[in-house]
Amino acid sequence: MTSVEIIAIGNELLLGDVLDTNTHWLCRQLSGRGGCVQRGAMVPDDPQAIAEALEATLCRQPDLVVLTGGLGPTADDLTLASLATAMGRPLELNERALAMVQATYEQLADIGLVLDAALTEERRKMAYLPQGAEPLHNPVGAAPGVTLREGRTVLVCLPGVPAELKGIFDSSFQPLLQDLFGDRVFLERVLVTDCGDESDLAPVVDRVAAEHPQVYVKSRAKPYAEGVHLRITLSLSGSDPQAVVAAIDATDRDLTAGLAAAGIAVLERVEGG
Ligand code: AMP
Ligand code: MG
Repeated sequence: MTSVEIIAIGNELLLGDVLDTNTHWLCRQLSGRGGCVQRGAMVPDDPQAIAEALEATLCRQPDLVVLTGGLGPTADDLTLASLATAMGRPLELNERALAMVQATYEQLADIGLVLDAALTEERRKMAYLPQGAEPLHNPVGAAPGVTLREGRTVLVCLPGVPAELKGIFDSSFQPLLQDLFGDRVFLERVLVTDCGDESDLAPVVDRVAAEHPQVYVKSRAKPYAEGVHLRITLSLSGSDPQAVVAAIDATDRDLTAGLAAAGIAVLERVEGG
């Protein structure tokens, strides 16, 4: 299974000024492609902190590392320079990236959203990539995404602005995702129970989870209140869609029977993934 780590970069995240929705969104997308997100880190716009997080991540040799934030024109956008230093590669002007930045500013100038398309130093900054890196077209903003390899690990840097991150992810990142994840499927099924106390669910959930170790079985606690219907989520990814459905069905059957024996009903099933 494709292993993934995510590093979210930005002082604003650690101040609590901005909620790290990018990591949440990426986790959902990458798990949905059948990947296994093993770790997420949040670090400030500080070269040493970025380098330390990256070195620790690379030591674990995940298949994919996604970094978000710090690709913009301002002096505190340090992701690529930090990466270059940490990986011992020079930061150099990438002509393809520069052409992408230029094309974006020409379009923005044409529609009057910027005064002119001049390639100022700040705009050129977004085209300096670590040696050996490739730019990913950004259909929403100016800073290209960046992809590079280190050993067996693919690194992808995406902008912090969520719409830009999603724009790149959904377009120029897709071929790479296909290479990394292939056609794996992910299935998630939610069982809504008539039980409001997780301790009543626990014996059945624990037994069924142990009997179906490949399926992730998770009850979702909520505050005690009148009329609370606790949910249990079953999820699994795999390369054989039929085997994935069969494993979820078998777990569902055993769970439903076990809950019924404990006097708990399943009110509804919601399929996702
Ligand atoms: P940056 O390119 O890192 O300067 O990010 C630009 C803007 O994107 C920030 O000012 C935040 O508003 C937003 N942003 C950055 N990182 C994240 C994140 N992890 N989750 C959600 N929004 C973010
Ligand atoms: Mg920033």
